[in-house]
Parts: sequence; C-alpha cells; structure tokens
Amino acid sequence: MDRWIEETFHPHWRVRLEASRVLHEVKTEHQHLVIFENPTWGTVLMLDGVCQLTTSDEFVYHEMMAHVPLMALERPKRVLIIGGGDGGVLREVLKHPSVVRATLCEIDRTVIDTARQHYPSIPGAAFEDPRTDVVIADGCSYVAETDERFDAIIVDSSEPIGPSAVLHTREFFQDCRRALKRGGVLVTQNGLPFLFPAHLGGTTAVFASLFKRVAPYLCTQPCYFGGPFALNLATDDKHVLKVEAKQLAKRQKKRGVRGLKYWTPHVHVGAFALPAYAQRVVDAAIDEAGAQGTPSAGDVASAAAAPVEAAPPKSTDA
Ligand code: SAM
Repeated sequence: MDRWIEETFHPHWRVRLEASRVLHEVKTEHQHLVIFENPTWGTVLMLDGVCQLTTSDEFVYHEMMAHVPLMALERPKRVLIIGGGDGGVLREVLKHPSVVRATLCEIDRTVIDTARQHYPSIPGAAFEDPRTDVVIADGCSYVAETDERFDAIIVDSSEPIGPSAVLHTREFFQDCRRALKRGGVLVTQNGLPFLFPAHLGGTTAVFASLFKRVAPYLCTQPCYFGGPFALNLATDDKHVLKVEAKQLAKRQKKRGVRGLKYWTPHVHVGAFALPAYAQRVVDAAIDEAGAQGTPSAGDVASAAAAPVEAAPPKSTDA
C-alpha cells in the first residue's frame, strides 16, 4: 500500500501527497530530506515537512527567481545563489551568456547529491558547467566573510525554519547588501502573502531600511499550497525597476534565452502588480521602516514565521 506523506508546515491544515515510490529518505546533519514519486506532481522534494519542489511545476519558481533580476540587469556577470541545492535556479542563471561565474552556496551537500541522482532533469548540466562554483557552507557566514562582489544575489532558501531561519534575518540581508556591486540586485523567496503576510511585511521593512528600491513580485507556484507566492527584490538602482516589456523582449532575444515556460517580458512586468491585500502589507511595512528606522532581526524572523490568525467570527447580533 502506498505511503502518504504530509506537509506539516501549516499549523491548522495539512496537505498529504501519495508516495508511489520513496526514492530517498534521510535525516541529514541539517534537516529531514525525503524524495518520492507522486502520480500527479512527478518527483517531489520535501525538507523538514515542507514541499520544496516538484518536477511538474519547478519551472515557475526557478524562472521567476532567476530571470526577473537577471533580465532587469544590463550585463550580469557575477551571480551568487544562496541555497538552491536542487540546481533549478542555477540552471536558469547559466542561460544568460554574460554570466562568467555563478557561485552556489548550499549548506547541505545531500541536497545536491540527491538532486543529481533522483531528479537530474532539474539541474541538467548546471553543476558540470565550468562557470559553476559550488560552496558547501552556511549562506549567512559566506556572505558575512566573502570579499567577492556580485551583480545579483538570489536567496533560494526554504521557509524561515531550521537551517534556513538565518536567511530571513536583517543581519543576513545587510551582509548581502555589502556583497553586492553598486546597483546590484538582491532577490529572496518571501513566502505566501495570503497565509503569512508578516513574512512579506517583515522582509519588505528590512529591505526598505537597507535599499533605495524595494519591489515584491508574485508568481503562481501550484505546489506551494495557499495562493500566490512572493519573491522580494531590492536594489539601489532605479533603472532596474523601469525596464519595459519591449526592452526585456530585446534582451531575451539578444541573450538567446529560449524555451521558458513561465517567464515572459509581460509576466515580468505584471508580476510587480500586487493584489490589494498584499499591497497593503507592503505599504504598511515601508511606512513602518520609515517611521521606526530599522526593525531588529528578532522582529523579522518571528514575524515571518507567524501564520495569519483567522479573524474571530463576527457576532450575528447587530
Ligand atoms: N524553493 C524552495 C522554497 O521556496 O521553499 C527552496 C528550495 S531549495 C531546495 C532550499 C535550499 O536551501 C535547501 O537545499 C537547503 O539545504 C538550503 N539551505 C537552508 N538553509 C541554508 C543556509 N543557512 N545556507 C545555505 N543553504 C541553506
């Protein structure tokens, strides 16, 4: 009888996925990892009870994590990916011919090894590319210590729990800012704004206190159950957010980036148009950053992990 594997991230509801075959399961030095096959989603990776990716829809998140920052930049050469051991973001980054070196800093080697073994279609040849430089380390220490400077830093972390919690803190984002070249771009995954508005709000407030421009954007990732998924972008370069669809189309053609299944020039521009409930969170966070100056790490991490509490039922008697 097939096993059913539960996603245990949401406190008041669960998603269960049928595991027609468990390909690999281990408690690594850093987290619980399970890779299994599901008739609908294909091969699925779960870390600490949270669905990270499936081979059926990974293109959505990976294309939007890589091409929004890189297409917005005129000539990205040096890219740093924090996390991302599955190789999906790396695959997309290396589609840009101007990229001379892509450093991937992943804390858990097991994620990389099992990706190459059990879902090789995701990294493809990215780990063998001569431009790729893999560092097995905590991303937080890496950005705090590196002398390198990057055109783009892409934080492909898990949710703010376990080894990933440090990748959602003010100190980490401050060190990312330090490791960026002038006008460079920082992008991070930012959770599900409908269920975890404080995650989007917390990161936006920190970004607003560190950078001149902050712009969250959304994508629809089917296996991240709970509505549109947020990514957050920060930069000091005003041009990065002013690139129009026509110019993006020219860049895509000139760079020979083909065969994309989600990112298009219009999807890129449209992704920054937030629904009102999310825009309100962002506006409040930017106001707060303005009013309070900089929130502390504790504020961001704890706020980020706090799921929205349903409003108490309205009393019927007027
Ligand atoms: N797309 C997924 C999401 O949004 O939940 C993330 C996918 S990716 C597999 C997340 C990666 O971040 C994992 O491989 C994990 O090992 C890595 N990671 C977690 N904490 C880290 C840290 N402190 N430094 C570097 N990598 C880390």
